Amino acid sequence: MAHSTLTDPHGFRRRGVLFVLSSPSGAGKSTIARKLLEAEPDLAMSVSATTRPIRPGEVDGKDYHFVDLEQFRAMANNHEFLEWAHVFGNRYGTPRAPVDADLDAGRDVLFDIDWQGAQQLHQIAGGDVVRVFILPPSMEELERRLRGRATDSEAVIVGRMSRAASEIAHWDGYDYVLVNDDADACFEKVRTILHAERMKRSRQTGLIGFIRRMSRYGEE
Ligand code: 5GP
Repeated sequence: MAHSTLTDPHGFRRRGVLFVLSSPSGAGKSTIARKLLEAEPDLAMSVSATTRPIRPGEVDGKDYHFVDLEQFRAMANNHEFLEWAHVFGNRYGTPRAPVDADLDAGRDVLFDIDWQGAQQLHQIAGGDVVRVFILPPSMEELERRLRGRATDSEAVIVGRMSRAASEIAHWDGYDYVLVNDDADACFEKVRTILHAERMKRSRQTGLIGFIRRMSRYGEE
């Protein structure tokens, strides 16, 4: 997979961050993702493909690429996905080409994918991946939020609650775990993680020559 060569404010190149946000649905992840994209011009959203039906208010190509099972299978067979998984009885996959293009263009990439996707991405891209898990303040609050959305049937809500419990059980596959009891505070924490990760020594490949020269100051 492509390596990003981002430029920091001092003009040094660095490796791009593959920033994964996971949470049970209803924990506030999409609000945080939206705010992060607004605040960070050098961050691009990875738009997944899915076989699940489009929901009211969703836009094809923006929220997801809505495809049928046959199209999805063809994409998987053509190795067009970086990762894909079964979630809630549907298939979801991350198209590879846009991620490579964003990294090549010097952008970090944000992924809203589940624990299976986070795990697969980490296997592929290792230390370039940062995995953040967002917890709801409580299961009662999660249920209240899911019912408030009113886009899903009762059976779907019950299914999502039990799925939430099993997703939360995978919290140990993440680098960071946050509780979203205040949307603004949680967003700020996620943003701080992104900023800190950008400065990691292992990403500052472009700084090596600069630091070598600094550390030899006075020797010549
Ligand atoms: P929803 O149908 O509510 O939009 O998403 C259901 C779940 O699928 C969410 O937990 C979301 O993070 C996950 N998901 C969305 N896209 C992908 C993807 O490309 N790969 C994987 N592994 N999970 C995804």
